[in-house]
Amino acid sequence: MRVLVAEDDSATRSVLAGMLKKKGHDVVEAANGLEAWLSLQQPEAPMLAILDWIMPEMDGLDLLRRIRSIQTEQPIYIIMLTIKGEKTNIITGLQAGADDYLPKPFDYGELCARVEVGLRVTEMRVKLLEARNALAHEAAHDPLTGMLNRRAILNHLHKELSRASRHGDLLVIGMFDIDHFKKVNDTYGHKAGDEILIGLSHILSGSIREYDSLGRIGGEEFLMITPMKPGTEPELLFNRLCNIVSESRINTKSGVLSITVSIGVAYANTKSTVDGLLESADAALYRAKSEGRNRYCIADFSTTK
Ligand SMILES: [Mg+2]
Repeated sequence: MRVLVAEDDSATRSVLAGMLKKKGHDVVEAANGLEAWLSLQQPEAPMLAILDWIMPEMDGLDLLRRIRSIQTEQPIYIIMLTIKGEKTNIITGLQAGADDYLPKPFDYGELCARVEVGLRVTEMRVKLLEARNALAHEAAHDPLTGMLNRRAILNHLHKELSRASRHGDLLVIGMFDIDHFKKVNDTYGHKAGDEILIGLSHILSGSIREYDSLGRIGGEEFLMITPMKPGTEPELLFNRLCNIVSESRINTKSGVLSITVSIGVAYANTKSTVDGLLESADAALYRAKSEGRNRYCIADFSTTK
């Protein structure tokens, strides 16, 4: 693990660095507080730091406070090292955010043991964060297509709706449904059906703009949220997407298949709710189906909820 040693006394610093290197750590050395601060701003910054209290440029306590003033999911483990061994100093250091404290002169064996404790805590924090991120990702994504799942895309729609109404922006949603998907499943089997769903998610993800969002809201239903600038025409976008899908070929174990989609489009207004907007898009989708599929229909703006 990468460890920072911030100590202005060069003899102490090189002893500390040598000892940590011997234990297999990658050591970054800093001769004053400012250097230490700068080295913590680098990519792949150290995850454990041993800070001397009295240093030029910026002392250890100021450095500690500065580090702790920054919100981070992965806080660096800090051991303060100092001749300021009085109880009040120890309390000040710990209250400022130090994880551990060792008065000088220190015993190298004890310091090594305390560094090992810090590394164990740091490794545990990393694992917890990874596990939490993996759970959060799993809770928000559809396992088959990797797209946002229903709950996540609807949460996103909720946020986008309030953002758009705050800023007076135009927000449009498109509800996509694969035409005759049941027939695909009945003819080629559910495996091919899954491959179609994955294929379509790739086609759509590759065709949207970076500020558009997509999610799978049901079996063969997808929702697209697209913020638009006033004056831009969603018709062009949805027409293009219909064409891209119908012209694409999807490789499946049952051969190369092609599909079409129908899209129900609805514009949000300042009074729109998530449920109302979905209802309007759904009604437009129903119309697109009844008018022959492989097309988009736009919900009547005056009736959009
Ligand atoms: Mg010093």
